[in-house]
Amino acid sequence: MSERLSADVAIIGGGTAGCSAALHLRRRGASVVLLEARQCGSQASGVNFGGVRQQGRDWRELPLSQRSRLMWDRLPDLVGHDCEFVASGHLKLARSAADMTVLEDWAVGARASGIGVELFGRNAVRDRFPWLGDEVAGASLVASDGYANPRLVAPHFARAARAAGAEIREGAKVVGATRDGGGFRLETSDGIDVAARALVNVAGAWGSEIAARFGEDVPEGVLSPNMIVSEPVPRVVTHSLGVVGGNLYLRQIDRGNVIFGGGRGLPDLAAVRSRPSPASTQAALALAVAAVPALRQAQVIRTWTGLEGYMPDDIPVLGASRTTPGLVHGFGFSGHGFQLGPAVGAVLAELVLDGRTPTDIAPFAIERFAAPV
Ligand SMILES: Cc1cc2nc3c(=O)[nH]c(=O)nc-3n(C[C@H](O)[C@H](O)[C@H](O)COP(=O)(O)OP(=O)(O)OC[C@H]3O[C@@H](n4cnc5c(N)ncnc54)[C@H](O)[C@@H]3O)c2cc1C
Repeated sequence: MSERLSADVAIIGGGTAGCSAALHLRRRGASVVLLEARQCGSQASGVNFGGVRQQGRDWRELPLSQRSRLMWDRLPDLVGHDCEFVASGHLKLARSAADMTVLEDWAVGARASGIGVELFGRNAVRDRFPWLGDEVAGASLVASDGYANPRLVAPHFARAARAAGAEIREGAKVVGATRDGGGFRLETSDGIDVAARALVNVAGAWGSEIAARFGEDVPEGVLSPNMIVSEPVPRVVTHSLGVVGGNLYLRQIDRGNVIFGGGRGLPDLAAVRSRPSPASTQAALALAVAAVPALRQAQVIRTWTGLEGYMPDDIPVLGASRTTPGLVHGFGFSGHGFQLGPAVGAVLAELVLDGRTPTDIAPFAIERFAAPV
């Protein structure tokens, strides 16, 4: 026998985006049912690198990213926990003169947007970061960037949303979704039947599957960033590190473990499974030792990856449906949606309740993928 629920808003997906949307909607008084196929934070939101980074972002994402950055400081007030967010600074390394030009160009635009950026040439890098290797030709630092523990973020948003009155159902995969009269009807694999006036599609790498049910075909692909963690080693890496070109990023946590990312693993979206790639792991470790020679002795203890939705232009779909009134989308974060998650939830709540948001999301409109007429 099926269970019937009704709410002002139904949310499909319990990643950071969905759980933050649930909390923001409840804070504005809307009733909410969130349906998550597995556990909140069990997909990309819970297995990512944990980078909370504005540096290097596409300009079109900066307003959303800056709004989110303010929220990371306020997590204790918002969700009752800091989620181990540390403003360590994000240091991006140049390995050539051409890389340095990339950093300098980004710094000009970022400063105009109010983001503090410090640039270092080769000698300044040696003086200030003596633990970096000789291949480093320069760097740029955004001191307000950092990292957090991805295992904690979506679950804490979910807990706060539930405490605020949201109905959050885990193990509830949406298998039917239709527009019905003035609202939406959803059916789940575990027999829940939901009626809602509005629908938020934040289904991550499966977001395009949900959109397709409403006649919106978008070219979302799936990729699996390859992740590695070492045993604890003496503290040497003081900042979250990235490189121009993005084929290496790493950070060291207080306990001493170093978390690395680089290259791709092997996704299997249909099976809801992904595997790290030994070749990507070897390549990332070689780059890491070149960047930070002290890591040469560190032993790898685990590798993993996850399933992330990528759009062809590397920016998400975020905004109203073009076919279906009352439906809003937020998916396809293309490998950098963890930092954006808190603000994405706030924006989605505004779109549902006000029909607009003060944050510039125009570049993320789903219309950009509409077939030409
Ligand atoms: C390995 C890896 C490293 C990354 N590193 C970083 C980083 O350092 N910094 C950064 O900013 N970003 C990073 N990202 C990207 C970031 O993790 C994602 O962009 C972000 O977490 C997406 O959040 P989300 O809530 O949109 O999606 P998800 O966390 O994927 O959540 C979507 C949820 O929807 C659920 N769902 C799907 N279909 C259904 C259905 N039919 N019914 C019910 N539920 C459904 C899924 O089970 C899932 O839990 C990384 C991603 C990966 C995989």
